[in-house]
Amino acid sequence: MTEIPVDPDWQDGKNHPRWRAFQEIVAERNRQDEKWGEQNHPPEWWLAILVEEVGEFAEAIQHRQFGGPAGAGVLVEAVHVAAVAFSIVECCERNGWNHAPDEGGE
Ligand SMILES: [Mg+2]
Repeated sequence: MTEIPVDPDWQDGKNHPRWRAFQEIVAERNRQDEKWGEQNHPPEWWLAILVEEVGEFAEAIQHRQFGGPAGAGVLVEAVHVAAVAFSIVECCERNGWNHAPDEGGE
């Protein structure tokens, strides 16, 4: 796994929540790449994938609150949402979606 360097301003180093979050998101991104390969979807597909993960996050929250098998998965589903959003940004970078149409992008 690629390790994100610790920001020197973080007094608690690798115990900083942002460092731990980056580790989990990058690990999930690597897992997604191993499973699916490089993903270059049109924006509407990405939106559907992201909303599906947001739905799983919502289900985990509901099960945590009211009981259910997905109740222990709030963090896991939050990481999935973040990793899919990260993958969308990667796709934007690969495909030149980082500019408005009048700025030379698509
Ligand atoms: Mg999920």
